[in-house]
Amino acid sequence: ARAQAMEVDASPDVVYDDIGGIEEQIREVREAVEEPLVNPAQFDTVGIDPPSGVLLYGPPGTGKTMLAKAVANETDATFIKMAGSELVRKFIGEGSRLVRDLFELAEEREPAIIFIDEIDAIAAKRTESKTSGDAEVQRTMMQLLSEMDGFEARGNVRIIAATNRFDMLDRAILRPGRFDRLIEVPEPDVEGRKRIFEIHTQNMNVADDVDFETLAEQTQGYSGAEIESMTTEAGMFAIRDERTEVRTADFEEAIEKLENEDSGTPVPSA
Ligand code: ATP
Repeated sequence: ARAQAMEVDASPDVVYDDIGGIEEQIREVREAVEEPLVNPAQFDTVGIDPPSGVLLYGPPGTGKTMLAKAVANETDATFIKMAGSELVRKFIGEGSRLVRDLFELAEEREPAIIFIDEIDAIAAKRTESKTSGDAEVQRTMMQLLSEMDGFEARGNVRIIAATNRFDMLDRAILRPGRFDRLIEVPEPDVEGRKRIFEIHTQNMNVADDVDFETLAEQTQGYSGAEIESMTTEAGMFAIRDERTEVRTADFEEAIEKLENEDSGTPVPSA
């Protein structure tokens, strides 16, 4: 079960330059996660504990997973990912068991970055219902917090969690010594979108007429993931047209296609 529930990557290949539009967030993550791994002595000298856990929150597809992978890459750490939904198990004790396995594996492979995506699945505010399922989820979360308490002993393991639903979180997990460094990863602004376009077209044969500034203006509200799939779609239009170069018209057609998929109501093309 361990192998199925976790994604282990000994050397992820994402670098900070692959991530567009969130420079400030990159800086904050480096300070909170990278520094304690690379230079633990300075925390001792100053006499403070490094942040225990970092929580990245914001809309889907904005680069949270990339960020965690890039830190692992930069620090030569093993990247170990677990989805919160994987920790919600049917049988009593299974979720806690997986959490223990997760930290055990991280210690075996240290230095390691543990990345827990969708942390809200196990850390949502307690509801009124007192079903056994809720109690089990609660136990899994308690196990996670208790593993984090043992952190000082295992300095070479850092933990990053992510959520799209910050408002749903039980505030208890944000206390000092827990996920005590919060970093919001927002949707990219126009500058960020331009940069993300440039990143995802690096290896594309793009025509000279393509202006990323204009495309960035036309894609307000797009996430990084949406921009990426848009550039791929534009490439598909070029291929369908038996061209080797991707033109402005391809990008515009791709935007139109994605907008129609979004709204769910196909608009007949003129
Ligand atoms: P979720 O909350 O849905 O897990 P996420 O924030 O973790 O999403 P990622 O998995 O990091 O998002 O991003 C998905 C893909 O979208 C990336 O592999 C990348 O190709 C693209 N992408 C997202 N954000 C960015 C960005 N800021 N710069 C460049 N590419 C991005």
